[in-house]
Amino acid sequence: RPVLVLFRDDFRLTDNPALHAACATGQPVLCATVQDEACMPGGVIGWWLAQAAQALTTALHNYGGPLLAPHGETLPVVLDLVKSFQVTDVFWNRRYDPTGTKIDTDLKAALTEHGVTVHSLSARLLHEPWAVRTGAGQPYRIFTAWWRAARELGDPGRPLPAPPTIEFAPIPKPFKKNLAPAALLQPTLPNDATEAKKYWPCSEEDARTSLDNFLEDTLEQYETSRDRPDQEGTSGLSPYLRAGLISPRQVWHAARQAQARSGDHANTEKFLSELCWRDFGWMQLFYQPDMPTRNLRSEFDQMPWQNDAEAFTAWKEGRTGYPLVDAGMRELLATGTMHNRVRMVVASFLTKHLLTDWRKGERWFYERLVDADPALNAMNWQWCAGTGIDASPWFRIFNPVGQSEKFDPSGAYIRTWVPELTALPDKLIHTPWKIDAALSRHLRFVPGTTYPHPIVDLKQARAIALESYKNLKTV
Ligand code: FAD
Repeated sequence: RPVLVLFRDDFRLTDNPALHAACATGQPVLCATVQDEACMPGGVIGWWLAQAAQALTTALHNYGGPLLAPHGETLPVVLDLVKSFQVTDVFWNRRYDPTGTKIDTDLKAALTEHGVTVHSLSARLLHEPWAVRTGAGQPYRIFTAWWRAARELGDPGRPLPAPPTIEFAPIPKPFKKNLAPAALLQPTLPNDATEAKKYWPCSEEDARTSLDNFLEDTLEQYETSRDRPDQEGTSGLSPYLRAGLISPRQVWHAARQAQARSGDHANTEKFLSELCWRDFGWMQLFYQPDMPTRNLRSEFDQMPWQNDAEAFTAWKEGRTGYPLVDAGMRELLATGTMHNRVRMVVASFLTKHLLTDWRKGERWFYERLVDADPALNAMNWQWCAGTGIDASPWFRIFNPVGQSEKFDPSGAYIRTWVPELTALPDKLIHTPWKIDAALSRHLRFVPGTTYPHPIVDLKQARAIALESYKNLKTV
């Protein structure tokens, strides 16, 4: 009798504890991904997860077996598989989002009632949400304290190898219609994001290549290069981590090995701490499942957001007249990603200069990001807006011009995404409205026509933002 492995956001063979444990039983293995609409996001991330399921299908095929991809609600679909194949055990890697947790809890109860043994394993994070706690047994509220406590637990366990072979259970005829790739639902990308395909090859090997290249070429400068959108200064791993094409343990231990080779300390530690923000975000979502929709600091419930529809559209389309903001928003539309520093700048600009509710920005990012992650997106938006628990204070308002001059000094990043500014000299590229009449004629660059005028006055908008918050505190 076979055992069943369920794949969800962990579309990999290496360091997959559920698959590993299933193979270790010595029984035939049935691999499945249930296409349950309750767990399938739309937008670019929906497309990316479907690509990842496709990549897993190919990887399993190379092992000589199939991936079942039945559609429907998880509970009845899995019960049907279990009965039809006379499955003895079901294996999965744990989820921590509210929908996934509820489905898995109900499923475990139903399977147990049917005499099936459930094995739920830890694979998604380095530290599960409840693993790192304060002395009083509470979840941490501050990352640095969490990180200090997490470090004391030592390095996480080593990643598991891919199974050498898999003995697949035979698939009877009535189930052949459920076989991937034919059975995989293929969400269509929003039309103007089809370009994302060019930027994101999707397989475990591609994830590993990104990691290896990063460790080889970039890790040693990570502390400074991570803030430079004009350089390839980060790992580019977030979409692969999101779909589980690579595990955080693989990333952690590969970075440690690179550290041992180079003797570098500061850059590796910085990188590992960034990787751990991922765990911290998931810990926050686990304990505050409404984090994507609720101000964690309730005084912000009184914030007089202006929510100007035209300004929001200009922000989404990269037409605010602030080059760094527009470059980031256009990068997002084209590639499904945006550099972290620029994510912070555009989020600060939307919430503070445009006084737009952070939840609108959070939703737009979630629709468009190839790494859209319910915990990390919500935590970071709340961080930028100042509404989160360990957040940047409201009065820290990024100046998009200052940030641009500091982190994209030659304007290389801006030129990549805002081609109408290409001809401007480096100094003017951050403030195109300051061009003088003679140069404007010479370059045929007409402020307001070639490129939009700034949609807000930074000084005035900043004063309004600060005043709004001051009034809030006295409510
Ligand atoms: P690297 O610098 O190479 O970092 C390695 C890994 O560490 C990342 O892949 C990621 O898993 C983790 N990490 C790095 N920075 C952060 C961070 N600030 N918070 C949590 N984890 C981090 N990241 C997502 O994966 N999904 C999102 O939906 C998301 N939304 C964001 C929204 C806003 C407003 C902001 C400011 C940040 C958001 N981030 C999100 C975090 C960060 O921007 C991305 O993780 C990072 O840009 C990914 O690039 P990288 O893999 O090259 O990062």
